Amino acid sequence: MADARSNGDRPGEEQEPPPLDPEARARRDAAMAVVRRLGDPVLRTRARGVETYDDAVREQAGRMAAVMHDALGVGLAAPQVGVSNRMLVYRVEPDSPVCVLVNPEIEWHSADAEIMEEGCLSLPGVHVDVERPVHVRVRARDARGGELLVEASGLEARVIQHEVDHLDGVLILDRTTKDQRKRAMRALRDAEPTAQRA
Ligand SMILES: [Zn+2]
Repeated sequence: MADARSNGDRPGEEQEPPPLDPEARARRDAAMAVVRRLGDPVLRTRARGVETYDDAVREQAGRMAAVMHDALGVGLAAPQVGVSNRMLVYRVEPDSPVCVLVNPEIEWHSADAEIMEEGCLSLPGVHVDVERPVHVRVRARDARGGELLVEASGLEARVIQHEVDHLDGVLILDRTTKDQRKRAMRALRDAEPTAQRA
């Protein structure tokens, strides 16, 4: 995998938005308006497993994929749209299909780890260094209940781990240094009045 920083992209969910035309910007703003932010208890709650694979599950997957797409994110977990169940979506390559993982379990990760800067749609403007294993193997179900085994490395592995953290109520603030967490909290506090006006 190429170093994601070298082309201006950031791993995690939030990517540097390219210059957007007004329509894309309006879509991004609308998507960001439904994404829950730090302070919302749903982000700190361990999400429940999905038990029935019905239309509601597939509708939720479609809704999450649309929010992720419009927000220009590379991943999104259900709690971020206010749904406390164990579903995540991600798309690491812009043109590849969206992957939906339901009830994901990271059954193996490499001892080999790396530190990279991550962002999060729930923490707009915050970028902190996070150390994560480089390779993971994940068992999950798709939106129809079919079994999936995903072996991922690099950016894909990082995004999956970031989203699984969301399902456990864990944020990148919990996985960075004390100093970076402090700085991030200050930046979020300072940005708040602007965010509320927007
Ligand atoms: Zn996130």
